[in-house]
Amino acid sequence: MLEKLKPDIMVNTLREVPLEILKKNKITGIILDLDNTLTDWNCVNISKDVCEWIVTLKNQGFKICIVSNNGVERIEASLKNLDVPYVPNALKPGKRAFLKAMKLLGTTSYSTAIIGDQLFTDILGGKRLRLTTILVKPRSKKEFIGTQLVRKIEKVILSRF
Ligand SMILES: [Mg+2]
Repeated sequence: MLEKLKPDIMVNTLREVPLEILKKNKITGIILDLDNTLTDWNCVNISKDVCEWIVTLKNQGFKICIVSNNGVERIEASLKNLDVPYVPNALKPGKRAFLKAMKLLGTTSYSTAIIGDQLFTDILGGKRLRLTTILVKPRSKKEFIGTQLVRKIEKVILSRF
């Protein structure tokens, strides 16, 4: 049961995502979570270091798409001049938004990776479609009270991996 949630790769920061390994495994499309993956909690702005990392991904030939449970307004406010396609109101871990993103990316399950900070939305959703799943530590410790409870459960699960 827990295997269903085990990410393929776990990293502390976005910069640690092993892009060369992804390339070797023929990953060409990357789906990105927004909240607490690209932005800090309760913060609309994407920091300069993350913007630079996104540019690096593009320069290395990866196609990217944001899949967020947030609405259009919030996503647009975060992206500003960053030219990145997105799928809003994603209802992760549902499959629909991931499928939509893969259509935008022109990729298949085999050539797509998902990077996100939550096991029960990003990783579970990716697993359901057999994507390459990458769990990154949340950028902020501070979160919604509901998310804090989920984190406690995540912590127990992660300790078993
Ligand atoms: Mg998140």
